[in-house]
Amino acid sequence: MLTRDALGHRSETVRRANLSAIVRVLHGSGPSSRSDLVTRTGLTRSAIRGLIGELVAGDLATESPAALDGPPGRPSPLVSADPLGSIVIALEIAVDSLAAAAVGLGGVVHAVERIDLPRGRTSVSDIAAELAALATSVRAGLPRTSVIVGVGVGVVGVVRRSDGMVSMAPNLGWRDEPLGEHLVEALDLGVPITVANETDLAALAESRRGIARGVSDVALIWGSVGVGGGLIIGGEPLTGVAGYGGEVGHMPINPDGLPCGCGSTGCWETEVGTPALLRRAGYPVEGGHEALDALVRDAEAGSPSALSAFTETGRWIGIGLAGIINILNPGLVILGGRLARTYPFFRSGMEAELDRRVLRASRHLARVTPSVLGDNGPLLGAAELAFEPLLIDPAAWLRPRTGLPALAIA
Ligand SMILES: [Zn+2]
Repeated sequence: MLTRDALGHRSETVRRANLSAIVRVLHGSGPSSRSDLVTRTGLTRSAIRGLIGELVAGDLATESPAALDGPPGRPSPLVSADPLGSIVIALEIAVDSLAAAAVGLGGVVHAVERIDLPRGRTSVSDIAAELAALATSVRAGLPRTSVIVGVGVGVVGVVRRSDGMVSMAPNLGWRDEPLGEHLVEALDLGVPITVANETDLAALAESRRGIARGVSDVALIWGSVGVGGGLIIGGEPLTGVAGYGGEVGHMPINPDGLPCGCGSTGCWETEVGTPALLRRAGYPVEGGHEALDALVRDAEAGSPSALSAFTETGRWIGIGLAGIINILNPGLVILGGRLARTYPFFRSGMEAELDRRVLRASRHLARVTPSVLGDNGPLLGAAELAFEPLLIDPAAWLRPRTGLPALAIA
């Protein structure tokens, strides 16, 4: 039997779900008219009006008068996510750099800073301290009324999402490092901090704001010194039981290959990571981005040794990618990081192997393309991760009606 209490509880649950549906549209698709929101959410016009009122009063949305030059008919006010009301801090620990961004609801990037990874200072506590300084810096220009609602962190390593434990980050020399705990202490923000693998976050960013929007099965391969994979299957990220899944860079590919940072030999990244490319071109393997820049210039100038290093690396990229495509049958394969930048030079070597090895049924369905979000893809994905609790239940973040699980910017 339904009691008055049960009915009240149910209507509150429905209200919160409806607020979530509206905020997701505003955050993901940008400013929308009330009519758009009626169409997108299936709610009635009067329900939309009431819920928008709550979101505007709670600093999660703003409403502007309808444009006068819009289509004929009754003008419908334009509703936007409030980009300055709720902010997340996105952080990234890449192989050779650290970055931070302050991002507002709706995906508005207010500030981004990136610095080279401090040489010789890559202990987890040093890096947490550097990130805390970057976070302070990107918050500096925000209004005092802005509220930080979460922190998302991308790290180049194998991460347990529940607590930010990095089980392995060979390129940083980390093993079983409690990054989450260090960041909670160093940032001291009193908001949820979620840590994930940076390639998973690049895939999330591509599916929310890049070329993978609306594609349910996506393989993102992020290449730099190491190689990572962000896999989205049936619209859901592939994480494995603890978040360690998708480590395509450690797919065994060459039984006679070189030792890998993970402790194995002949992993895919030992054949397609930047050191392998530099080795084939006769450049110092530890040359970093300066050596890669020089190699790209050589290739642009038509140097046969540079071009053949790219072709051979492209061959290994194609061999690994063929296995991934045959297993996953993705609609889209996105190549990010250094792979996006150098795509024209290895493309033919890669495609020859794809043509040879991918099942015919899957080959023509898998569009292979470089990333469009650039090097900040993982950072944008970290912001999306940090917004997730707010998107799930915006009612908990409305101000000033509810107690705030958030911290005003000092
Ligand atoms: Zn490995």
